Amino acid sequence: MKYLIIADIHSNLEAFEAVLEDAQNHGGFGHTWCIGDVVGYGPDPVACIKLLKQLDPVCVCGNHDSAAVGKIDIGDFSSEAAKANRWTSAQLSAENRGFLSGLPDLLVEDDFTIVHGSPGQPAWEYIAHIITAEDNFRRFDTRFCIVGHTHAPFLFTNDGYEVSGSVLRAGDMLALRDTRLIINPGSVGQPRDRDPRASYAIFDAEEMVLHNYRVTYDVVATQKKMEKVGLPDFLVSRIAWGI
Ligand code: ZN
Repeated sequence: MKYLIIADIHSNLEAFEAVLEDAQNHGGFGHTWCIGDVVGYGPDPVACIKLLKQLDPVCVCGNHDSAAVGKIDIGDFSSEAAKANRWTSAQLSAENRGFLSGLPDLLVEDDFTIVHGSPGQPAWEYIAHIITAEDNFRRFDTRFCIVGHTHAPFLFTNDGYEVSGSVLRAGDMLALRDTRLIINPGSVGQPRDRDPRASYAIFDAEEMVLHNYRVTYDVVATQKKMEKVGLPDFLVSRIAWGI
């Protein structure tokens, strides 16, 4: 069985659709794991929720999902993120709100813990450094943990002696064996590793390998929609740069 692993879609329908098409070109998938932040920043929150629900996903909530339905305060958001969040919240139907409100903070699926930020602080913590990764390896019991939130595809390994980190590159194939791992598939809708292509992963449970992929999408089409609804300029420009 193959699992599509997607994080930080952020209301970017063009990027989301490109990922689904690209995943089919890489052999398809039977299950979907969504690592949170379905909405926020981008122009298509409702369409992205609708498309995601069609995949019948296992999905955890991200900080932007929680903020859009009033479950957490946006006081810690940047002014642009907060503005986009208020706009997002105003677009959501009662059904959309019900879906986002019902998403859990953390899920365990077989050998995998699935959480948006970190096992220690699901909504907020960024696992971007070895010290944070070391701390969080003590906070989940499964062999593997999948996170999002940083918007950069990355891998932390823990062989029982030391923790190390490395960038996940497009086309990388990772063999999942005994070594404990924290895996970040990168962001579908707002990559921040200076590569604007949508990022995602496919886990093949029979071969026990995980593939990281990148795919181009129509960034200009997304930007035009963002400008039309008045989303902040910085959010419009950053998706072209991958920052
Ligand atoms: Zn995010």
